[in-house]
Amino acid sequence: MSRPRVIRCAACAGRIKPQHPHIGVEDLETGKEFSYHARPSCQKRCVEETVTRLEAGKVYAAHHYHASTCPDAAPGFGCSGGCFDTPMAMAN
Ligand SMILES: [Zn+2]
Ligand SMILES: [Zn+2]
Repeated sequence: MSRPRVIRCAACAGRIKPQHPHIGVEDLETGKEFSYHARPSCQKRCVEETVTRLEAGKVYAAHHYHASTCPDAAPGFGCSGGCFDTPMAMAN
């Protein structure tokens, strides 16, 4: 009984298409991952919520998933695909 995993944004509850750029914040204790859209408003929520969880003593790893169409082999911020042209405060 397996079905395709539906990714939903933890900020706006909207569905995230896997081939679109998005952010994953992984709880290193439970392996559970919170996903967020790459759009600025959802990124902002992502930063705020992650800061709150970090203050609660949790440990997280942030993953940046680029669009399937992103042309860079090892993309980062300001990639040529334009996935994450707004750097997040938690990126460093
Ligand atoms: Zn969203
Ligand atoms: Zn990209």
